[in-house]
Formats: sequence, C-alpha cells, structure tokens
Amino acid sequence: MQLRSLIAGLGLLAGQAMAADATALKLYVFDCGIVNVSDISVFSPGVDVGKPKTLVDSCYLVVHPKGTLIWDTGFNDALNAQSDGVKPSPLFHIKMPKTLAGQFAQIGIEPKNVTYLGLSHMHFDHIGNVGLFPNSILLMQKEEYESAFGPDARKYNNDPATYPTLKANPVKQLSGDLDVFGDGSVTIKRMLGHTPGHQALFVKLPKTGNLLISGDLVHFTENWERKGVPSFNFDKEQSVKTMEAAAQFLKDNKATLWIQHDAAQNAGIKHAPAYYD
Ligand SMILES: [Zn+2]
Repeated sequence: MQLRSLIAGLGLLAGQAMAADATALKLYVFDCGIVNVSDISVFSPGVDVGKPKTLVDSCYLVVHPKGTLIWDTGFNDALNAQSDGVKPSPLFHIKMPKTLAGQFAQIGIEPKNVTYLGLSHMHFDHIGNVGLFPNSILLMQKEEYESAFGPDARKYNNDPATYPTLKANPVKQLSGDLDVFGDGSVTIKRMLGHTPGHQALFVKLPKTGNLLISGDLVHFTENWERKGVPSFNFDKEQSVKTMEAAAQFLKDNKATLWIQHDAAQNAGIKHAPAYYD
C-alpha cells in the first residue's frame, strides 16, 4: 500500500513536471461579445457624428508556469441566451455569440482554478463574468477598487449589482505597475484616464513578441491614431497624457498594441482554442 502510494506520488510529481514544461508562457484570446454602436462619435466627440460602427469585446488568458491570469471577463454569459442581444442604452446593441465558460471548457482549464483576475477597469463590458473566478486574486489599482466598492460607485458608471461576488475575492490593490509573476513576462501597467484606476496588460511572448493589451486605453485604431478621448472618460487630460505615454512605451519596447474592442484587428487575431506563445 505504501509502495503503491509512493509510486502514485512519483507519478503525480512527473505529471506536474510535464505540466510545468508544457505551460511555457501562452496567451489565449476569447470572444467575449459584439457591440453595435449607433453613433461612434461618442468615442471622439465631433468626429463621424451619427455613423454606426461595430466593436467587439475581448478577454484574454495568460498561462504562465507559475500560474494563470484572466484579463477582463466580457459581458455576462447570460447574454448568450438572448439571440437578438440587448440594448443597454440607445447607443449600444450588444450580443454574445459564445460564452466565456464554454471557451474555457474548450481549452480544458477551470475558471475557478485561475490564479489571478486582472480587470482593466470596472465597466460592465469588462466585468460581466467575474463570478466565474471566485478564487482568483483580484489585481486592481486602488482608485478603481474604491470606485467599485466605495459609496459613489454609480457616479463612476459602476453597478455593484452586476458584480455581487467580487468583494469576496482575495485582492491585491495596486498603486503602480505590477510584475505579476516576478520574471518581467507579464506586467500590469497603470494607465489612468478612462476610469480612475484604469490599467493595461503588457505581455512578452517568446515567439510572438511584445504585446500591450489595451483595456479601454483606446477603443479602435482610428481613434488611437487621432488620440480621441471618449466623452464618457473619467479624466480627459489624464487620458491624453496616458495615450502619449503608452505610445512611447510601445516604441521603447517594440510592442504591438492589441485593442480589445477593435473588430478589424481582432478579425486577424487567432482566438481560443488556438493560442500565442
Ligand atoms: Zn470597454
């Protein structure tokens, strides 16, 4: 009996070693929804007034030998049941052809086992599925945490009823950048302006190269080129400063900007179960 459990133990160790080997840094991209915007000028006042545009909603999973990080969680999976989508406001018509839970099942990872929950910010199209990750350590700028759980959540366009479980997550509140796994490969970047504690994600992939995953630093390519500031951003001046700093950061690090809401760019990015490494 002892020998058998010893052998089982060794088998487990070997399995872990193999798993560790197989989990060299990987990045999965998930389809977390579609947004039809009726007047795109809301993202850059005065430009393209009255013109519609389709955006997408994206989520990401980093698999690192020391753990996993989900980056943003999209709309709530319940939206998937509404085949015609819903209109949360006259400006937006949102749909969710795939669930995040279903896409996790496809790659054989259980959301409840994800180590870290990284949220670019608390807007509803980024936090819809936080309830799938009750055990993950929330990594969030302290200003964003305050905007979510302080007395003025509504003032920041946050609705606590849409994230009832999040307060119970373990949390690491940040006042700057965070090297998530301690080896420089995955860094949360403090990039304020869109919201009080907005952040982006910098990932250094051995084969793919360096990526800055935008959060809502910007919503689509043309707006990045003109550095347009959405009418609903928390701090316009800070938003411009942050975009300028981000542009310099991209140059300094030879990094590509992946814009989470950009439909055209995402059409050229492979999605889970495929991955980048
Ligand atoms: Zn967004």
